[in-house]
Amino acid sequence: MKVAVQRLLAPLIAAILLLPSILTGADQFLLPDSHGIRQVAITFDDLPAARSSFHPDLLANPKKFRARNVKVLRQLRKMGVPVAGFVTRDFRPPTWSEDDMSRLLKFWSRSGAVLGNHTTSHKDFHETPADEYLLSIRGGQEYLQAALGGDGQERRYFRAPYLHLGASPESREQLRGYLELNRYQVAPVTIDVQDWIFAEIYSWADSNGAEETKNATVRAYLAYLEEAIEHYALLGVSVTGREAPHVALLHANALNYDNIQDVISLFVKLEFKFIDMKTALLDPCYSKIPTTSGSSIRSWQAELGLPWASPPNPVRFLGPLYDEYQRVR
Ligand SMILES: [Zn+2]
Repeated sequence: MKVAVQRLLAPLIAAILLLPSILTGADQFLLPDSHGIRQVAITFDDLPAARSSFHPDLLANPKKFRARNVKVLRQLRKMGVPVAGFVTRDFRPPTWSEDDMSRLLKFWSRSGAVLGNHTTSHKDFHETPADEYLLSIRGGQEYLQAALGGDGQERRYFRAPYLHLGASPESREQLRGYLELNRYQVAPVTIDVQDWIFAEIYSWADSNGAEETKNATVRAYLAYLEEAIEHYALLGVSVTGREAPHVALLHANALNYDNIQDVISLFVKLEFKFIDMKTALLDPCYSKIPTTSGSSIRSWQAELGLPWASPPNPVRFLGPLYDEYQRVR
């Protein structure tokens, strides 16, 4: 009911908030509405596995971990969800061989996933000298190409860890120049979900046999996720004046993998249709590399001089679970 009311109000909010964009002449936003259809491309970061995001026994066993991935990708395919994944070379668990990693990535690729570069070691650009950071992009791409052995990845996609694209105009410009010169497409994000906080608690509970904490974390996560998706969906309309296609960022973690059906069902409940990332990025709103870190919507808002509307805070949904986690971490 709440969602239905919000959706009815969305065009009104959009009409009010679109006014400054007309005044500043941001033509890329003034496009016909996509008949009000919500679209989203689902993407996973930190392949093969974000740190401390799975039970250590599962992660240590490449065969079992691969079987888990097979199950998730099959479920996604059954639900008609194309995916993209962003690989960090050094997230290969220490017990895996190069071959184990390569086999997993090839499986993703052969399942139809677009794979992109998420650097070699997941360094934060805001805390790393530019030269060192650019090397980690180059190394990430070389690794991905070698691991896939020429498997059909037709474009170079880059996603910055933490979505950090530079702390100063100079560093942003340096990164932009490098990416353009090396023919990368930045894979932006509009629905920037902070699933990793929930995932760490879930994984901790899983590793310690704390079933009730695990279940409570899932409930909190799904409630948070629904509100976060709707927040970014409405925000997108308010900035672009139409239903521009979204790109959602999820992480490769046990929380998402174990609950993939419920996670995807939330997007369905919120009336999203699934498209692949390549199609989403054809939209003119993605024609420029974002000028700020984080969700691209934040960048568009900044361009239009609009204030940033804070997304839902995970801590509000976690409540005492968060305090408990802080005590034990
Ligand atoms: Zn990442």
